[in-house]
Formats: sequence, structure tokens, C-alpha cells
Amino acid sequence: MMVSMSVPLGFSIFAILLGLILGSFGNVLIYRLPKEKSIGGRSYCPHCKRTLGIIDLIPVVSFVLLRARCRTCRKPISWQYPLVELSSGFLFLYALQADLVAAPSFAVGVLSALLLGLCLWLLLLIALTDAKTALIPDALNIPFLVFSLLHGYINGLDLITPAVIGSGFFAAQWVISRGRWVGTGDIVLAAGIGAFLGSVPLLLLALWIAYVSGAIVAVILLIHKKKTMQSRLAFGPFLVGGACVAFVWGEQIVRLVGL
Ligand SMILES: [Zn+2]
Repeated sequence: MMVSMSVPLGFSIFAILLGLILGSFGNVLIYRLPKEKSIGGRSYCPHCKRTLGIIDLIPVVSFVLLRARCRTCRKPISWQYPLVELSSGFLFLYALQADLVAAPSFAVGVLSALLLGLCLWLLLLIALTDAKTALIPDALNIPFLVFSLLHGYINGLDLITPAVIGSGFFAAQWVISRGRWVGTGDIVLAAGIGAFLGSVPLLLLALWIAYVSGAIVAVILLIHKKKTMQSRLAFGPFLVGGACVAFVWGEQIVRLVGL
């Protein structure tokens, strides 16, 4: 029997705080992983290289108090930092609301929500890293696949079929184009998205959204001469966007169009 339960306020606050802290760590990963820098070690200002203190590293709060500038050199701090922190806070709160309420027990619900939050957080980092560098680091992709498998498993989803179809679809393109159309990162990401969605119709919907939105953006960039026919557009952000739309509204859309 499904017991519906409401989310205690303390858990919601904890979810937001966990998201803010992981968002802050996520900014470090976005910055350091593509450069293959160590993710240990203290953060520093990219302009004046001064090591940041605790007071510079409080998620969102430091950015507001410092008015978006480095305390020492006064150079601007990117808006990416507070936006990623706030988005991560929201994603963990969303995960808690989505997974705790329908869970068979409180403990399973909390575990499921934590895994879902980690999946959504990693999707955000994957989309941003790919958009900025056209690379999807394995250090993000592989944990996403593992957390998606675990989350799908405890929720009794169909894991293997959509994961194999997703990765097979990109692996085939990779073989045919000898790696020119898609990267190996897309193959792993598609496996993770298949397991994350846990259903073949939802995976197909996510791919369809990714291709349509990717084509629209590519045409806009071509018209504005930001890209040429030869340049490659990072596909990760579109895959992530498609996966998120399919995850949140997919069931309704699939019912509507009878996929
Ligand atoms: Zn500085």
C-alpha cells in the first residue's frame, strides 16, 4: 500500500542547504574537470589568484555581500556561481517533493529523493560543462549513470532496455560518422538518461525534444553566423533538456500523443 506523506519542513530546509553546498562544489567541478585540474585544494580568484576564505565561499550569500566582485582585486565574479547554487538548491527540494510523497516508506523515500537530487544536479553540471567546453567529463557522466541505475532500481523502473537503446543509438552514430557527429560522452550520457527515465517511450520523447530543440538552435546560430556548417554544436545541453522535460511532463505528453 502506498502511504502518502507530506514533507517535514526540516527536511525541505536540509534539502535546500545540501543543494546549495553541492551547487558550490559543482561550480568547482565545472571549472576544474575540463582542465583536468585537481578537484582538491582551496578555491582561488581566477584573476588575482588569491586563495578564498570561508567568508568568500558561502553559497549565494558571499556573492550578494561582495556585490559580485572579488574582495581583493574587485574583478567581477560570474553570475554562473550563484545561479548554479540556487538551481541545485531548487533541484534537491524538487527531488524531495517528487520522491518522498509517493514512496512506500519514509526511509526509501529519503534515499530515492537523495539519488534523484544527485541525478538532477549531475545533469545540470553536464549540460553546463558541455555547453562551455564541448566535453562531458567521465567524472560527471559515470556517477550520473550509476545514480540513475540505483534510483530506477529502488523505484522498480525498466532500466536495461532504455539504457541500451539510448547508448546504442549514439554508439551507432559514433561508428557511422567515425566520431564526427557525436562524442563518446554522448554514448554514456544517453545510457544514463535511458536508465534515469526508466521507460522507452520517455527516452524516445527526450531524444525527439533534444533533436528538435538542437536543430532550432543550430539554424538560429547559422543565420546569425555564430557557427558555420562545419562547426559542432555541443549536444549534451539538448539531451539534458529533453531528459528533464520527459522526466517532469513525459507521462502526460506520451498519453496525449499516444506514443
Ligand atoms: Zn581577485
